[in-house]
Amino acid sequence: MAQMGRPRNPLARFNAEGERWCGHCCLFMPLEQFYPSKQGDGYDNWCRECRKAYVRERYHAHPEQDLARARAWAARYPARRRAHRRIANRIYKARLRFERQWQREQTR
Ligand SMILES: [Zn+2]
Repeated sequence: MAQMGRPRNPLARFNAEGERWCGHCCLFMPLEQFYPSKQGDGYDNWCRECRKAYVRERYHAHPEQDLARARAWAARYPARRRAHRRIANRIYKARLRFERQWQREQTR
């Protein structure tokens, strides 16, 4: 089969410092600034900030679509949904605890 498009060289996405190229803001950034991905070389093609901005924008443009997608995911993976809720709840409680502690220390 003939090769379609330009050849994809995975090394071209990295600079000499081992930083990765973001295809959206066109900057090189350290690998921890990229979300892991199941596609490509295991990392998102866009950096975290670009991906977050994109997801936020998409949600504002079509909230019902995103909510439907989230509901479909939750219905398909009930165990994963519970695990997510558990972790989010734990983070929420830890933050409350931290804030209460912090306020106590301020009023002392
Ligand atoms: Zn970016």
